Amino acid sequence: MNQVTRGISERVSKMRSPKFGVISEVRKYIEGVADVINLGYGEPDFETPSHIKEAGKRAIDEGHTHYILPVEGLTSLREAIAEKLSRENSIDVDPHGEVLVISGVQEGINVTLQTLINLGDEVILPDPYYYADPLGVVLAGGVPVYTRLEEGRDFRINPEDVKAKITDKTKAIFFISPNCPTGSVFKKEDLEEIAQIAVDQNIYIITDEIYEKLVYDGEKHVSIASLPGMKDRTISMFGLSKAYAMTGWRVGYLTANRELVKNMLEVHSQLVLCTSSIAQYAALAALTLPQDSVEEMRREYEKRRDIIVGGLNQLGFKVKSPRGSFYAYANISGFGISSVELAKRLARDARVLCYPGTAFTFDESGEKYIRFAYTKSTDELRTAIERMKELVKTL
Ligand code: PLP
Repeated sequence: MNQVTRGISERVSKMRSPKFGVISEVRKYIEGVADVINLGYGEPDFETPSHIKEAGKRAIDEGHTHYILPVEGLTSLREAIAEKLSRENSIDVDPHGEVLVISGVQEGINVTLQTLINLGDEVILPDPYYYADPLGVVLAGGVPVYTRLEEGRDFRINPEDVKAKITDKTKAIFFISPNCPTGSVFKKEDLEEIAQIAVDQNIYIITDEIYEKLVYDGEKHVSIASLPGMKDRTISMFGLSKAYAMTGWRVGYLTANRELVKNMLEVHSQLVLCTSSIAQYAALAALTLPQDSVEEMRREYEKRRDIIVGGLNQLGFKVKSPRGSFYAYANISGFGISSVELAKRLARDARVLCYPGTAFTFDESGEKYIRFAYTKSTDELRTAIERMKELVKTL
C-alpha cells in the first residue's frame, strides 16, 4: 500500500467506481473545446423561475441567513410539503414528525442509507442506475444487488426478478421512477407487485421521485407510498432541482414513518446541520406559488424529447420515446462500436457530449447504450443531430 492511500477508509476506497471514470475519459475530449453541445449531465438549462429567486433574495434581505430551526426544516415549508404530498401524491403525512427537509435528494440518499443499513445488508437496485445509489449503499457498509431494467420491458422494473434477488440479508428495494438514466416510468401494476413483495418479505422501499413532474404523453406518476399499507415502510424522496430548475439551491424533502424520521434527523444534522435557510424560503415559494413555470418547462422538455428521439432514430440509434425525466437511453448496437468509443467520437468529432451506458451499469450491459440528456434548446438539439449525422456516416 503506498503512503498516499494508506489512511483512506476501506468504505471510501470501495466507493471508487471504475465505471464513473468512463465519464471523465469522455469529457477529456471536450476540455478547452468551444461550442460543445452538452447533453451529458442532468442539469436543466432553464433559469430558476423569477418568483422563486425573489423569495430567496427576500429571505436574505429579511435576515434569514442563520441556522434554521427546527433541524427538520422550516415549519411552514414542512406544512406546505405535507399539503403537496396529500394533493399530488396521495400520501397523507404529519408535517410534524414525518417530513424532513434535505439538502437535495443526494443528501436524502445518504441520510436514508446511513440510517437503515447495517454492515452486509443488501439493497436491491435497478441497473442501469444513478451513480450515487450503489455508492451510497457501499458507503453505508451495505451491498448493492442489481435487478436489470430490460429494454424489452421499456426499462420498467421487473417484479419477478426483484423477487428472485431477495435473500435474508435484503433490507430494502431502492428505485427511481420516472427513471434516470432510462426515462422509463414504472406502471402502477409494477408498483403494486413490488409493494406486495415488500410486505411479504418485510423490507423497506426507498424511492427517488425527483422526476415526478417530468412525465409526458399524459403519463401519470404514482408514488408507491400511496398504495395500501405502504406508507410506513416507504422512504419517499422528492427534489426541486429538476422540475423547478433549482439544482444550485440544494434543497429537497423526504417523508418516512415517525421513528425513521426521528433517527434520520440525527444523520441529517450530523452531515449538514440543517438545510440552507435561504433555499428553504425559496422552496416554500416554489411549492406554494402558481406552478405555471413547471408546466411550461415540462412542455418544452416534451418537445425536445420528440426532436432528439426522432433525430436519433433517423441516424440509426434505436430509442423508444421515453415517458419521463429528461433522458433518452439509446441503443447503439447498430453501429458495431462500444459505448465509450462512440461517446468519445461524438465528443471529439461532433462536439456533442453524452454519457456511455457503462457509466450506469455494474457490468458490460451498458455497452449497448448511450444516454442523452435533452436539457438544451430545440435549436441546439437540432444542431447536435446534424453534427452527429456527419459522424455516423463515418462509422
Ligand atoms: N437523483 C437522481 C436520479 C438524479 O438524477 C439526481 C441528479 O442528477 C439527483 C438525485 C440529485 O438531486 P438533488 O439535486 O436533489 O440532490
